[in-house]
This record gives sequence, structure tokens and C-alpha cells, in this order.
Amino acid sequence: MSKSLLIFLLALPQISLAARCRCLYGDLCWPNESEFAQLSGQVSQPLLLPVPPARPCYISANSSQCAEVIVGWNDGNWRANQTGAMQSPNFETFAFNNGTIDACYINTALDVPCRQGSVSVIGVDARSVGDIQAAVKFAAKHNLRLAVKNTGHDYLGRSDGRGSFLIWTHNMKNITVNALFTPAGAPASESYNHAITLEAGVQWHEAYTAANASGRVLVGGVSAGGSVGAAGGWLLGGGHSALSPSFGLGVDNVLEISLVTSNGSFLVANAHQHPDLFWALRGGGGGTFGVVTSVTYRTRPSFPVIAAFLAASINASSPNTALSQAFTELVRITPQLTDEGWGGYTIFSPSNGSLFFTSLYIVPAASPASAGQANATMNAYFAYVQELAANSTQSGNPADAVALQAAFTTPFPTWYDWYATLFTTGEQVGNNVEIGSWLLPRDVVESDYEHVAETLLTIPGITCPVAGGAVSNVSSSATGLNPAWRKAAAHVVGGVSWAEGATIDEINALRDRLKNNTAKLRGLAPQSGAYFNEASLYEPDPAHSFFGSHYTKLRAIKSVYDPIDLFIVAEGVGSDEWDKTLTCRK
Ligand SMILES: Cc1cc2nc3c(=O)[nH]c(=O)nc-3n(C[C@H](O)[C@H](O)[C@H](O)COP(=O)(O)OP(=O)(O)OC[C@H]3O[C@@H](n4cnc5c(N)ncnc54)[C@H](O)[C@@H]3O)c2cc1C
Repeated sequence: MSKSLLIFLLALPQISLAARCRCLYGDLCWPNESEFAQLSGQVSQPLLLPVPPARPCYISANSSQCAEVIVGWNDGNWRANQTGAMQSPNFETFAFNNGTIDACYINTALDVPCRQGSVSVIGVDARSVGDIQAAVKFAAKHNLRLAVKNTGHDYLGRSDGRGSFLIWTHNMKNITVNALFTPAGAPASESYNHAITLEAGVQWHEAYTAANASGRVLVGGVSAGGSVGAAGGWLLGGGHSALSPSFGLGVDNVLEISLVTSNGSFLVANAHQHPDLFWALRGGGGGTFGVVTSVTYRTRPSFPVIAAFLAASINASSPNTALSQAFTELVRITPQLTDEGWGGYTIFSPSNGSLFFTSLYIVPAASPASAGQANATMNAYFAYVQELAANSTQSGNPADAVALQAAFTTPFPTWYDWYATLFTTGEQVGNNVEIGSWLLPRDVVESDYEHVAETLLTIPGITCPVAGGAVSNVSSSATGLNPAWRKAAAHVVGGVSWAEGATIDEINALRDRLKNNTAKLRGLAPQSGAYFNEASLYEPDPAHSFFGSHYTKLRAIKSVYDPIDLFIVAEGVGSDEWDKTLTCRK
């Protein structure tokens, strides 16, 4: 055998392994300093070296940097500003097969060394399409495990990855309100007044402020501080809003999406250009088809809203009869509420031996007639709850009583006033959380509302009537979104959380509870599905649950625009062909 043939044969396993598996930090294939220096010369900002957000507290617990970490820990906008932070810190950690957890806890008293966990090790602070093209080409050339991160809100940890290379879109903040917008390639007659173009890093609080300054309203998400990204994962996974029953989901309101695909091409996708890709981007999921650089949404003239507030509690950790009746009635009228345009959130949360039942809904009050009908429906419900609460004390048994703190509707002059009053401050993140969810079909709610309510009452969580109404008026084939959304009346979510330092066995026990609860939700309507953005990491059949009958078409479109599968995320399109860590093809 010749020497050159021997060298070739010896090299074979290395070559096939490299092609089958992603290159991670620490592997021999990881780019060297001069290759990173070359990349650095092609992008506008110095390369990022992300670290877990608590890191400053391990350098000096008394430093001002550590004090800033402690203050910011539960603040969504602070977290979004950190290159190495996810909104749920558990996704910054990494659990080895032997149960050891690599983490960097804010609780330094646990005396666990600060480690990198799943935080990406190096990356590009993208400020332009050119930066993203350079970063994508670099990741593709070196076969790197790529993470695309915007705000880090992802509930399945899809915006980081152990040993990964990061593209951080957070600082792409341009906002343009277009007096008249015509999508690229569309006839001049197709134009939209005051459509708004958001670069990839714009967050909802920034988008809402800009739209409001032009007297316009956007269909968008809510979180304390408006920290969720307006042009990243939220949109690509579907994007629900309290306004969705009136105006549809994010994917129903986007006119154009610009992106960089895995060969570094910059494409503008809309109904006229790359319509297949535009279809897939509307619901096929973040981090899957390319890196979005900007999106353009339609807007609506500002309008007044009616808001509904309900707050009730009992001194018990499981629902009593009156509370169950109040909740069951709310489930029963949910299809009617969403038909009338009501959207929002109902939370069931146990705390210190009490159980809290809180609802926050809104409806646009553009026309007095529609507002009057919607107000009448909600106020009739509140009258029913008030009567239940009043009667609940009659037995004299404190366990039967429902304390009603609020049950009223009130007008706000504009949608933005409602948003600014309730969502500009507050802390909602910074906790170790995993969730599970399911989309409840309208026909199941209508035919079996008692069983639905009974099941939901066993699972602390959130019922979100952010479907139905206008969401159901869009054909399921119009976008790549899971068709289950179009038949749904509500999206229901449960979750588990744990303290830092919990062992893997303790965490796995909670995960088992989460899996059981999600299975109960799934059992209500197995033919339905779940919302890709707020869901369980343990769906038994993710392709069915998140994409339903659209999966095959989404996979085919991905093969066209990402033939090298550079963009793979947990439970996303194509992920079933990879191992659990998304490092090697099966
Ligand atoms: C506190 C909180 C409140 C929420 N409220 C809502 C709500 O009201 N409505 C709702 O529908 N959802 C809501 N969500 C869920 C939210 O939609 C998802 O977490 C979503 O993935 C966030 O997208 P992001 O871009 O901000 O986050 P990231 O975690 O940065 O990204 C999420 C996913 O999108 C990908 N991605 C991000 N940017 C891009 C890009 N430019 N191009 C390609 N891929 C990209 C990432 O790779 C990742 O896979 C909420 C979540 C939290 C934690």
C-alpha cells in the first residue's frame, strides 16, 4: 500500500466525523486565533466573548459590577443586554450525562465554581446585514454549532448552546415608520400606510413606543418591561398577543421578512419574492431558516380599549367549589369572548397555602356597538363571579370562601395607555423555569368545557385566550404556522421551577411532573398541537405537536434554503435528524 493511500485511509474517520458532527469549542477542528482574527477584520465590532451573567460576582462579590448583576437579575431588559444571559438562567447551565451541572449561580454562597455551561463561547455582535453574512459564512465554513440570540427569552434554550458560536442580533435597533410601504416585487398598487420596519434586535417596548409616536398600534407580545424581541423568535414561531382575537397573530400581520441564509445570501421574502420561504418563516420557528435581519409589520390607527381585571383567591392550595365554578364559566364563555375580540391571560397560581385566580383581558373599543356587546358579556360574567363569591361565605367554612379583590372593566383612551400602565415595569424572569403547553381547540371547549376546566384546575399555570376570533379567520394553509392555531380557542401553559443548586434528580422529578401535566393537556385534544415558542422540551412527537400537517412542507423548504442544516434548534424543523445535544447527525 502506498504511503499516500495509507494517510488517506487513516484520515477517513476524521473526515466523516467532521461532516457528521458540528465542531464545538475545544475540538481539534475549532478555528484557530488567526482564523478568528480574520473574521474580526470582516465585522464592524470586536468579537464577543460571552460569559454567564453572574460571572462578575465570582471575580469580586463586593464590586459595583456584581451589584449591577444582583439588581438586574430578574429584569428582562437587563438580561437581554447581556451577551451571555438567557431569560431563564437554567438554559445557561449544562447537565452532563453523569448528572453534574456546569453553572454559574448568582447564589455564590452555594460555593459552586462559576462555569460556562451552555453559554456560547465566542461570537459576532451584529450591527448590519454584512456582519451577519460574515458570521454565517464563517460558521458554515468551519461547521460550527451556531446559536442565534436576540433577547434570550426562548423557553426551550434555543438561543445558546454549549461550545457554540454566537450571532447576537440584539444591537440591530433601527426602526422605520414607512409613510407608504410597498413590499419588494409587489405592484405599486399594493401599498400599506404606516407599515413599520424593525431591525432584528428591536424589542416590543421600543417598537410600541415608535408606533405610538406615529399614532399607530402593532400586534405584539407582552412581558414586564416589553423585553421580548419584536423581530426574532416571537414572530418566527407565531407571535401571540392580547390583540390576536381581534387582529390575528404576528405571522398574520407581517408583510416582509429579510434574512441571511446559510450560504450567506441576503434575501427579501414576502408574498411576491421567495413566497415559499415567506410561508415557512411565518410559523416554522426561529433559528431554522436563516438569520432574520429585519421585518415589516402592518399597523393600525390608535384605538381605545376596554380592559377587564379579575382577582380572586382562596385560603387553600386546591380550588374549592365556588372558585371551580367561576373558572368553569370562564372556560365556557371563552369562544364567545374571543369572537367578540377579548384577548388576554388568566393565571392560576398557588402561593403559601393560598390559590390566586387572576385575569387580565382587553378588547378594542373602536366602535361603540362592538364595545358595548363585549363589555356586556364580560360584566355578566363578573356579576356571576360576584354572586358566587358572596354566596361562598354562607356556609361559614373558611375553606369554601372566595375572596374577590377585583372584578371590573375599565376603559383606556388608547391601547398604548393600557400597555404603558401595566407593562413598563415589573420583574418576570431570572428564574429556573421549564414549561409545557397545548392549544385547546374551540370545538373541544364548546362540547366539553366542564372536563376542560376540571383538568386545567389541576395544573397551576396560564390560560391564554390569544386565539379564536381573527386567528381562526385566517386559512390554515396561508402560513407555515401549526394549523392547530387556527382551530384553537386558547393556549394553555403549565410550568415548573426550582432553586439554584437543585440536584439533577430533584430537577428531573419536577420535569416528570411537567411531563405528566403536559400529557393531561395533550389528552384533552391529542389531534391539536402546541405553540412552538412556549412549550415543552419533552414533546413525544415534536414535528406533529409544533407543526402538524405542515411539517413535511417546512422540511422541504428548509432543505432548499439551508441545505447544510446550519440552523438547527431543539425540537425545530430538521432537529429529529440530530442527537439530543444537536451536535451529531443520527
Ligand atoms: C417573559 C416572557 C414573556 C413572553 N410573552 C410572550 C407573548 O406575549 N407572546 C408570545 O407569543 N410569546 C411570548 N413569549 C415567548 C416568546 O415568543 C419566545 O420566548 C420567543 O422565542 C422569544 O424570541 P426572542 O427573539 O425575543 O428570543 P431569543 O431567545 O433570542 O430567540 C428565540 C428563538 O428565535 C431565534 N431567533 C432569534 N432572533 C432570530 C433572528 N433574527 N433570526 C432567526 N432566528 C432568530 C433564536 O435562535 C431562538 O431559536 C414570552 C416569553 C417570556 C420569557
